[in-house]
Amino acid sequence: MNIDARRRSLLANTFLDYQPTERFLQQPLIIDRAEGLYYWDVEQKQYFDGIGGIFVAVLGHGHPRVIEALVAQANKLSFAPPMHGIADAALDFIEKLGSVTPDGLTFVKTYSGGSEAMESALKFTRQYFKQSGFPGKYKFISRYQGYHGGTMGAMAASGTGARKTPFEPQMSGFIKVFPPTHYRDRFDSWEECNRFAAEIVEDVIISEDPNTVAGVILEPIGLTGGVITPTQEYFRILREICDRHNVVLIYDEIINGFGRTGSMFAAQTFGIAPDIICCGKAISNGTLPLAAMIAHKRMALAFEGEPKDNLNFAHGHTYANNPMGCAVGSSVVDELVEHQLPQKARVLGDYLATKLEGLAKLGVVGEVRGQGLLRGVDLISDGDRTKPFAKLGTTLKRTALRNGLIMRIDPTWFAVGPALTASKADIDELTDLIEKSLQDALDEVGS
Ligand code: PMP
Repeated sequence: MNIDARRRSLLANTFLDYQPTERFLQQPLIIDRAEGLYYWDVEQKQYFDGIGGIFVAVLGHGHPRVIEALVAQANKLSFAPPMHGIADAALDFIEKLGSVTPDGLTFVKTYSGGSEAMESALKFTRQYFKQSGFPGKYKFISRYQGYHGGTMGAMAASGTGARKTPFEPQMSGFIKVFPPTHYRDRFDSWEECNRFAAEIVEDVIISEDPNTVAGVILEPIGLTGGVITPTQEYFRILREICDRHNVVLIYDEIINGFGRTGSMFAAQTFGIAPDIICCGKAISNGTLPLAAMIAHKRMALAFEGEPKDNLNFAHGHTYANNPMGCAVGSSVVDELVEHQLPQKARVLGDYLATKLEGLAKLGVVGEVRGQGLLRGVDLISDGDRTKPFAKLGTTLKRTALRNGLIMRIDPTWFAVGPALTASKADIDELTDLIEKSLQDALDEVGS
């Protein structure tokens, strides 16, 4: 699209996320409106949203039920003071969300975004150990390539290479291990490699001194590493290690949660429950800044006592348990449950995976990973999965946008995560656009 002088000069007064404005200006996208699976820019060019905004529009943009919930709550009560009271709408959401989580994960507090939810999980875990007889436990083990948020604590748990460098040193007490993909070529099978990547976490806990280790943090399906999809056994081993050493297992389900992987939470998809789930993005279908920390009741018990004990979570945010967010969140859960959208994502996700695998005919599509409607694809050269094709990915960013397709391209892999309300025909449209954009990129780059 073309960009006029006013918009161009206004762009100099803000930042895009993780993108130089000068590069953005080479192919700008100024969005005017959205509906269902589509965006329209200010020139009314249509874009297929292959990634639900950024994994937020799980029900499609502008879902009427969610908008209605938003408007109704805005007219009734848009803000409740988080230090002096709680909105009834927040209690409704706590009940609703607690009813779709794995057993025991019923303690819910909502925040304004994923980073805040992660930050809260870090503080909650440290305080939990301080007041339950293990005051020395404070360290967190997370993974390289994992992203958990832009605030300093969540970023300290993130292992995303150069993204964190401008803000180093990271906070101390955060240790990184590698996800299974890192060891992949050293093992004969993916299963063996996952076993090793999980077992090594116990070596790290022992080497650090288990009396100092509080939590293990991971995104079940790791987006930023290229949709890293571990085996079920990986989670089982991690769960056993955490139990052996009294370490809290924290899943960052900010992308994975709310039906995308084929269950309400990836914890259910993989059949292994953590002690804390952080979720965000799709929780509000993108209508409001909203996220939640969901903890096991047993952890919350450490914060219960007589009024004179003054036990409380020493943490708060102005928009915590916000009534508008909670009303919207309840409507999203209702819609997902009533229409069995997580189950639908499983079936449609298999179809999407088959279609993506079919793109192998172009000779540049490697492994297809993921679960449900969260899928990632390696871009490779020479049909060899050890040769990533970054130049193709960089070009694909341009050709996709030109063809009216929005997806995540990083650049040796791309990821898609359409709304769970998509039909088979929508998936066909998405994969046709991917194929055309890949072919155009190949024509530009040369195979
Ligand atoms: N964790 C993961 C896995 C994420 O993808 C993100 C956002 N991209 C966050 C945490 C941080 O969430 P937010 O941007 O809402 O603060």
